[in-house]
Amino acid sequence: MSDLQTRLAKRIEDKRDDLIELTQELIRIPTLNPPGENYREICTYLGERMARSGFAMEMVRAEGAPGDCTKYPRWNVVCRREGTRAGECVHFNSHIDVVEVGAGWTFDPFGGELSDGKIYGRGACDMKGGLAASIIAAEAFAEECPDYAGAIEISGTADEESGGYGGVAYLAQKGFYDPKRVQHVIIPEPLGVDQICLGHRGGWWAEIETFGEIAHGCMPFLGDCAVRHMGAVLDKFEDTLYPAMAARHTEMPVIPEGARQSTMNINSIHGGQNEQAADSTALPSHCVPDSCRIVIDRRYLAEEDYEGVSGEVKDLLEGLRVTRPNFEYEMRELNHVAPSMTDKEAPVVQTVARSIEAVMGKKVRYVASPGTYDQKHIDRIGKLKNCIAYGPGILELAHKPDEYVGVDDMIDSAKVMAHALAQLLTDEV
Ligand SMILES: [Zn+2]
Repeated sequence: MSDLQTRLAKRIEDKRDDLIELTQELIRIPTLNPPGENYREICTYLGERMARSGFAMEMVRAEGAPGDCTKYPRWNVVCRREGTRAGECVHFNSHIDVVEVGAGWTFDPFGGELSDGKIYGRGACDMKGGLAASIIAAEAFAEECPDYAGAIEISGTADEESGGYGGVAYLAQKGFYDPKRVQHVIIPEPLGVDQICLGHRGGWWAEIETFGEIAHGCMPFLGDCAVRHMGAVLDKFEDTLYPAMAARHTEMPVIPEGARQSTMNINSIHGGQNEQAADSTALPSHCVPDSCRIVIDRRYLAEEDYEGVSGEVKDLLEGLRVTRPNFEYEMRELNHVAPSMTDKEAPVVQTVARSIEAVMGKKVRYVASPGTYDQKHIDRIGKLKNCIAYGPGILELAHKPDEYVGVDDMIDSAKVMAHALAQLLTDEV
């Protein structure tokens, strides 16, 4: 173990209480998305914290991005600390937003309670714990190696949970991820302290609507039931599409294993009359539905392409138009994200792999994420390929009730991040 590694580890251990308090305070700012609450508050909090550690802070509002409005402005913060000489810039990016709370909690979702070495709350693992760990790592490193080269950046960005258009995508459009400005990006999403996430699968979201004709429910033969047409679509998915997707496997090291193939979720189905309010006692009237809609969420592999993925659904629907009487449909694309994979030999990958081995004493495991995250924007818009996700926490806890992050995990990952900074910005390790 190098002398600097020992000193960095000690400094991070000494900051354990600070790390806990920082994580708790971040959780206590409820940055729910939707609608996008308290972004300004958390960015201000982060900026002031980082200013005390010698970082310059820049607040950036994503004006005109989806969801940005006077009531819910999409604020982001980018904090930068320059070294004493020229060198590379290492950027840690964390999203500040959290998803809805949902049912089933035994802890206060915005209490940040510490219990048995774990901090509980919505966003604890996804990803305020990772944000806090990267801050502690950067501060410990800057204190221990004040004479470092290059620069360190910490950003807190909006809307990752809803696509990142008011966050990283906006910053990338503004040049914040220009490879001339930033050379290495680490996103502390909860992928585990001894794993490096190289990228993610692609996603394609679409709404399909089938049409019919309204008539009295006692004489359905005088109308045309759009829900039955949708049933035929779902049958086609079961008979043809799902078996075809299950047969496709990937070289991407996606975790969990079940996601190492193509998958598709049917998010929602709506047909016929609107559902009545929960407190209504009225009975429905009798009508044949003339419209039925589903939303599909298709996740795809690096070995597939967008044209193939959208084309096979379109082909199934076109097939039904030929074989099924009166079958009419429309398909509307809602969103599309291409897969992203960083090369295993990329500098940030190799650096963090060495740091994991030095700090954790074990061989790194390379993984890929089943869902997308902000790497897509850094890759496609920023044109910066040297990017990974690495951070504390257990991915399966994300978006669940009683979400937590382990304090020891945060400490370990902070040591790895500080060690990586030492490799990239000093000659000492
Ligand atoms: Zn996340």
